[in-house]
Amino acid sequence: AKAEKLDRPVVFDRVLRDKAQRRLYVENELRDVLSRNELTLFYQPIIDLETEELRGVEALIRWFHPVGGMIPPDEFISVAEEMDMIIPIGNFVIDEACRQLADWRNRLGEHAPDNMHVNVSRKQLEHPTLISVVEQALQKHGLPAGCLHLEVTESMIMHDREASIATLNGLKKLGVKLDVDDFGTGYSSLSCLCDFPIDALKLDREFVKKSDRDREVTLIHALIILAEKLGLEVIAEGVENTEQLALLQDLGCCLGQGYYFSRPVSGQDLEESILVGLGT
Ligand code: C2E
Ligand code: CA
Ligand code: CA
Ligand code: CA
Repeated sequence: AKAEKLDRPVVFDRVLRDKAQRRLYVENELRDVLSRNELTLFYQPIIDLETEELRGVEALIRWFHPVGGMIPPDEFISVAEEMDMIIPIGNFVIDEACRQLADWRNRLGEHAPDNMHVNVSRKQLEHPTLISVVEQALQKHGLPAGCLHLEVTESMIMHDREASIATLNGLKKLGVKLDVDDFGTGYSSLSCLCDFPIDALKLDREFVKKSDRDREVTLIHALIILAEKLGLEVIAEGVENTEQLALLQDLGCCLGQGYYFSRPVSGQDLEESILVGLGT
C-alpha cells in the first residue's frame, strides 16, 4: 500500500480523481444499502395515448443517501452490476414493485394501474434464480403474472443469445410480459423481434426527441406499423410536449411515457394523483 502511494502521479487530473473517488464511495456505500433501507421505487405513468388514461407504471429505483443525497440510477446501477450487488438489489425491486401494485389493486380497485413495468439488468437475466424470484414475488403478493412487464434491452439479450432465449421463454411460461427497452439504440438487428418472445417495444426517447425531423417521423411510423404487424405494443418514451404527443397520436402509437404526463414520483404521490383524478 505504501508503494502505491509513492507511485501516484504528482499531477492527478482533478476531475478524474473526483470521479474515481465518487465511484469508490458509491461502491462502499452500496454494500449494505439494503439493510439501511435507503432504496425506494418511484413510478412513472404509462399513458394510453388515445384516451390519455393511465395504463401502467414503470418502477424506477431511487437511492436517498443521508450524506451523498439522491444518487441517480445511472450512477450506481452499473457499479452494482460490477459488484454483483445487482442481484439482491434487483430482487428487492421485483418484490417491492409487486407489493406496491398488489396494494394499489387492493385499495384502488379498478383505478389501480393495470401493469407494473420493472427494469431488469443483464446480470439478473443471466442469473439462474430470476424465474423463481419472479414467480415467488407474484405468488407472495397474489398478483396475476400478466400485469408484470419485465424490461430488457436489445444488447442484453444479444449478449448471450441462447441463454437469454431460454430464460425469456421460462418467464413467458409464467405469463409475465416482456418489453424491449430503449428500442432502436442497441446493436441488434430487427431479427431479435422474431427470435425473442416479446410483447412490447419501448421506442427510445431519442426518436421522440428528434421527431421534428421528417426522417425520424418516417422511421417512427414504420416501426409502429412493423410492431403492429408483429402483434407488439409500442410505448414511446420521453414524451415531453404537446407537439410530440399529437404526432404520436397521428402515427397511431398506443402508449407513451414522459415528463409531459408526469415525472417519476413516489408511490404516495402517484396514488394521490389517481385519487385527485377521481375527484376525491
Ligand atoms: P430507462 O429504463 O430508459 O428509464 C427511463 C429514464 O428516462 C428514467 O431515468 C426516467 O426518469 C427518464 N425519463 C422519463 N421521461 C422522460 C422525459 O420525458 N424526458 C427525459 N429526458 N427523461 C425521461 P432514471 O429514473 O434516472 O433511470 C435511468 C436508468 O436507470 C433507466 O433507464 C434504467 O436503465 C436504469 N434503472 C432505473 N431503475 C432501475 C431498476 O430498478 N433496475 C435496473 N436494473 N435499472 C434501473
Ligand atoms: Ca426502462
Ligand atoms: Ca428506456
Ligand atoms: Ca436506458
